[in-house]
Amino acid sequence: MSNIQQNIEHISSLIHSAQQKCGRAPDSVQLLAVSKTKPLEDVIQAAKAGQVAFGENYVQEGVDKVQQIQQIAPEFNLDWHFIGPIQSNKTKPVAENFDWVHTVDRSKIAQRLNDQRPADKEPLQVLIQVNTSGESSKSGATEAEVFELAELISSLPNLTLRGLMSIPANVTDYQSQLEAFQQLAQMKEKLSEKFDHIDTLSMGMTGDMEAAIEAGSTMVRIGTAIFGARDYSNR
Ligand SMILES: *Cc1c(COP(=O)(O)O)cnc(C)c1O
Repeated sequence: MSNIQQNIEHISSLIHSAQQKCGRAPDSVQLLAVSKTKPLEDVIQAAKAGQVAFGENYVQEGVDKVQQIQQIAPEFNLDWHFIGPIQSNKTKPVAENFDWVHTVDRSKIAQRLNDQRPADKEPLQVLIQVNTSGESSKSGATEAEVFELAELISSLPNLTLRGLMSIPANVTDYQSQLEAFQQLAQMKEKLSEKFDHIDTLSMGMTGDMEAAIEAGSTMVRIGTAIFGARDYSNR
């Protein structure tokens, strides 16, 4: 078994224990494998271990992987999630190649993704990225903006709003992690009272996965613990 396959087994068992510890149903948390900066061979190793959902942050790198895998191994039938910041001049390749986008945080981006989604594809599954830490430097909609944006997305035929995503401030103590995630979970509850199809909370990474699961995450985004540390020297 490759390291990547072992890592996926290990993370899956950690997810399982975290679910059990707080009394959540088995399989209520999906693992998203974040393959940014990693080569195609790593994605293939993970796919061979049964991993289906992959997350990418950079448009061109992500599109290259989506298209190459589709050519050389279409049988894997992978789901591709765009989880990086989106500039409005890069929405087209995202709308054409990805299945999910986690980082919709303003109306212009939602409108463009809708208009550029090819007619022969399923609607793009979208999450609103929320800035729970309130830091102005970070991307993400404020709580006040979330509902307005949700109204718009719900009216667009080529997008399906599925829930919320956040990247909280990088804190290491469990209680602070938990509180930030609980804030997002409450917001998702309010959202699901008003809108259909809201079933996804994308929160939790390698360093804060347990707190995210306790707070109700349904999708953890794990890079380092699956593929190892990233090397950014070529970017
Ligand atoms: C890189 C990244 C991840 C994965 O982070 P790790 O700490 O390597 O698990 C998750 N979510 C987003 C939005 C990222 O950019």
